[in-house]
Amino acid sequence: MTLVKAYAAQAADQPLAPYSFERREPQAEDVEIKILFCGVCHSDIHTARNEWGGTVYPSVPGHEIVGTVTRVGSNVTRFKEGDTVGVGCFVDSCRHCSNCNDDLEQYCENGHTQTYNSLSQDKQYTTLGGYSSHIVVTQHFVLSVSDKLPLEKVAPLLCAGITTYSPLRHWGVKAGDKLAVVGLGGLGHMAVKLAASMGAEVTMLSRSPKKEKDANELGAHHFALTTDADTMAGLANTFNFIIDTVSAPHDYNEYLALLKTDGVMVLLGAPPEPTPVGAFPFIMGRRSLVGSLVGGIKETQEMLDYCAEHNITSDVEMININQINEAYERTLAGDVHYRFVIDMATL
Ligand code: NAP
Ligand code: ZN
Ligand code: ZN
Repeated sequence: MTLVKAYAAQAADQPLAPYSFERREPQAEDVEIKILFCGVCHSDIHTARNEWGGTVYPSVPGHEIVGTVTRVGSNVTRFKEGDTVGVGCFVDSCRHCSNCNDDLEQYCENGHTQTYNSLSQDKQYTTLGGYSSHIVVTQHFVLSVSDKLPLEKVAPLLCAGITTYSPLRHWGVKAGDKLAVVGLGGLGHMAVKLAASMGAEVTMLSRSPKKEKDANELGAHHFALTTDADTMAGLANTFNFIIDTVSAPHDYNEYLALLKTDGVMVLLGAPPEPTPVGAFPFIMGRRSLVGSLVGGIKETQEMLDYCAEHNITSDVEMININQINEAYERTLAGDVHYRFVIDMATL
């Protein structure tokens, strides 16, 4: 076992604080990674504060990981010491169900193992995530990262990037489609960049007027304030797609009305409380409300390669690990531009 340094929440109402724990020695299929950068996803906050229920304490969040390989097991062929690699939202799955066989490990029928707060496949322990000095991951779930791009700006691609890329590909978003992104935070800013790169005409739907300039610089063609009833009414029947990244409860019915006939609204944001939806917005326009969870390993590699080729990275604000609690508060206040990333050298 190797002792690693980390930051953990000890309870839902406690700030994160220094913590240490033991990681397994690399087994035959394992890659040991020294973590250089870890992005701060809103899911980290939902989990640390037990907003979704089921958090096991101490909880070490973090699933936007970029680092350097330090050791590999005897069967590892794809990586060697010194390689730059990434780890995203999950680190294992059953690997034999039909979804795993179709490169959809995130929908593993036997339950995938998330990077933190998740049972290992042998059900012996709960995973601890990337706010830590090292992580040990079986090679199938390790991604290759090009060192062409600044690594701190690549880290958020491992969750915010793939979570927005996957539905854009799955629902076949293409040049000329009218697409709206709801909520300009970590996921939202990647959705704008990626959808614009695929040729969609992008509208940013935000409750924050001061984000308009940023939205345009990120690649949005239009900006609309969701708090302005006239603006919202004027956008009825406008969009082929809506990508909803909002982390708090909000009325889906208002947004469904903005879809054209056959339009699709994709829920990515995961508010803890359910929201009622009426039948009529669906019936009247043959509209769909769907959801999507991150993306499989093969697609995550495809997304990283796509971003390297198109020079797409996250807009980040670097923090030291001891600023993590302040970063959570600022994220909750919508004051994030547009992803906090922890410099793990400060751990
Ligand atoms: P974030 O950076 O905090 O961004 C969320 C944005 O939503 C905010 O910047 C804000 O944008 C808007 N918002 C927040 N509270 C709101 C409210 N009360 N009413 C209206 N708008 C509000 O969060 P994130 O890291 O992008 O994550 C967003 C959500 O996606 C979280 O629930 C997270 O758990 C979830 N998530 C899901 C997946 C998946 O696989 N589906 C993956 C990762 C994260 P404006 O100021 O522009 O309105
Ligand atoms: Zn995430
Ligand atoms: Zn499976």
